[in-house]
Amino acid sequence: MQTVLIVEDEADLVSVLQYNISGSGRRAIVALRGADAVVQAREHVPDLILLDLMLPDVSGVEIARQLRADPRTAQLPILMLSARGGDIDRIVGFEVGADDYVTKPFSVRELLLRIDALLRRTRRTEARALLRFGDIAIDTEGHRAFVGGEEVALTRLELQLLRVLIERKGRLQTRARLLEDVWRLSPEITSRTVDTHINRLRQKLGAAGAALETVRGVGYRIAESPAGA
Ligand code: CA
Repeated sequence: MQTVLIVEDEADLVSVLQYNISGSGRRAIVALRGADAVVQAREHVPDLILLDLMLPDVSGVEIARQLRADPRTAQLPILMLSARGGDIDRIVGFEVGADDYVTKPFSVRELLLRIDALLRRTRRTEARALLRFGDIAIDTEGHRAFVGGEEVALTRLELQLLRVLIERKGRLQTRARLLEDVWRLSPEITSRTVDTHINRLRQKLGAAGAALETVRGVGYRIAESPAGA
């Protein structure tokens, strides 16, 4: 179920929005104050945020900036609710970076159509965010990995290791390089760690794991293109 976070201080409007968004088969969560908005967005990572421009504590513009600055929420679609027409260029422009806006007063029907459109647009973008190599697919946004469409439970490090190898396919990655880019060079970590993780990753990937080549004494590489492709 898709989740919409409503950030709005007018209680009457919040009830109407909640009622209608729930009625369209989505989960509606609410932040009445700007300070709660960022906390809720980080905790729930909703599919879309309805963000009122005029809030009593923090402005919608400032909230949008904070969301964009945090990698966890940087990609969240923002639909801004604005009382004035004059700010629109700023709102959807580079400065604030909202994806769309409606000007108050708006019809609920119109707003629901905009929500539908924005969620559709975002889903298409997400579909493109899949990193693929043969049967292996990584959802880089959702931090999930799949082999032949079946999800494989990988740890954060295993996922990062696989991602780096696929992004640099065809190129040899030395252990030192992998330690630097995947483990960020923690001092307690040795090149053995890379070997251990590669082995575990191979096991978890099943047949697709054969694509992870060992270059003896040096490092690892994933082939330029999948076998049989
Ligand atoms: Ca308001």
